[in-house]
Amino acid sequence: MIAADESALRRAIVDTSLEMERLGINQGTSGNVSARYRDGFLVTPSGVSARELDEQQIVWLPLDVTDDADILRIARPSSEWRIHRDILRARDDIHAVVHTHSIAATALAIHGRDIPALHYMVAAAGGKSIRCAPYAIFGSQALSDHALAALDERRACLLAHHGVIALGTDLSRAVWLAHEVEVLAKQYLLALQIGAPPLLSDQQMEEVLEKFKTYGKRNTEDR
Ligand code: 13P
Ligand code: ZN
Repeated sequence: MIAADESALRRAIVDTSLEMERLGINQGTSGNVSARYRDGFLVTPSGVSARELDEQQIVWLPLDVTDDADILRIARPSSEWRIHRDILRARDDIHAVVHTHSIAATALAIHGRDIPALHYMVAAAGGKSIRCAPYAIFGSQALSDHALAALDERRACLLAHHGVIALGTDLSRAVWLAHEVEVLAKQYLLALQIGAPPLLSDQQMEEVLEKFKTYGKRNTEDR
């Protein structure tokens, strides 16, 4: 018997995968989604498109899962389970991880470009830029290591020749940020059409980062 809270989270992961497709930030079997649950996490299965996905296919893995774990022979978690495990293990402020191959952000990642401080919303990812992690083959520990480094003090990064990772305190915030990264990438690509765009200064970005600490929050809210 699956507990009611686990069942609801499995449903939320399926809904999140569908929402990413609806928003146009993921397609086909690309991308994956996870959410922290108990001493581990629930993650989408490998090679299943959002439309084919059902709650029973979602896999639970413990946070200390390693390559030789029996569960990996029985279940078929996302090939990027190491990324989800490593982020959720390293960041106790984060409870959800989404990965997409959204088009504009991936176009920048093909060039290995960070998204610089071209718009104040870059600060929504936690810093003055959104870094691009170096290339490593999908599903590898090297890719996870690169991603974790690029996510240092950030909630999003690009993956060279691959896509995007966005983190959140819950699934809806992670998807919101993944969409925001795609919007910023589109703005960057469009701005580049008429030359290298001027950027906000370090001081201007520091002001935004400070203002974001209280943006949209009521006094009683603690997040
Ligand atoms: P999975 O279907 O194994 O999650 O892989 C998709 C992907 O985007 C790999 O990087
Ligand atoms: Zn991918």
